[in-house]
Amino acid sequence: MTEGPEDDPTSGLAERKMRFLFALRSRGVTDTRVLTAMERIDRGLFVRNVFADRAYEDMPLPIACGQTISQPSVVGLMTQALQVSPRDTVLEVGTGSGYQAAILSQLARRVYTVDRYRRLVREASELFRQLDLANITAITADGSHGLPDQAPFDRILVTAAAEDPPGPLLEQLKPGGIMVVPVGQSDAVQALIKVTRTQSGFDYEELRPVRFVPLVEGIGSE
Ligand code: SAH
Repeated sequence: MTEGPEDDPTSGLAERKMRFLFALRSRGVTDTRVLTAMERIDRGLFVRNVFADRAYEDMPLPIACGQTISQPSVVGLMTQALQVSPRDTVLEVGTGSGYQAAILSQLARRVYTVDRYRRLVREASELFRQLDLANITAITADGSHGLPDQAPFDRILVTAAAEDPPGPLLEQLKPGGIMVVPVGQSDAVQALIKVTRTQSGFDYEELRPVRFVPLVEGIGSE
């Protein structure tokens, strides 16, 4: 019997990656720079457990420390809403697997990403080194306080749900800056909010319903 293309694991992977990009487009990720970044950064490297073979499906998946890597289309839509330009300094709160930070690294000048779990920061940093993503700095910290030493930021992306956009993060946003943050009760559906800092205050725009793990105070135990 001759081997068909579907038996060839390499072409199977290429096809899964193609379907992955197609799913992103059909769910509203249309920004070419975002799509190119998502084509370059292999989600398969960021899901290392038994769920690794589902890395190219449009679903959130469990990672270490009881956390989740977000659904790719949500990553794409949040990144798109953030309107990152090449000179921007970006803060991400919630490193998790490092996938979102890696995508931001393709679009921004500099990315700071923080997580309350040391283990997640260590594992993500290791991947950033392997992938030569030298413009990302990953730090263990309670991100609800932001990073006062590195502030202000052009863009802030929060990938855990807060009850309200945290005050310190609003303060650390430059005028004209944009923050995208899921807001709502931790166990319910949250609203993805885009906050724009104007000269005189803040504009709020509700984008879509989402579901994220909660923003938790303090440093984690792992
Ligand atoms: N952006 C990630 C997914 C984030 S999951 C990715 O691309 O994989 C949400 C993350 O937020 C978790 O890793 C959780 O530990 C982290 N988190 C929750 N509260 C936090 C806080 N106060 N400060 C920093 N990180 C926090």
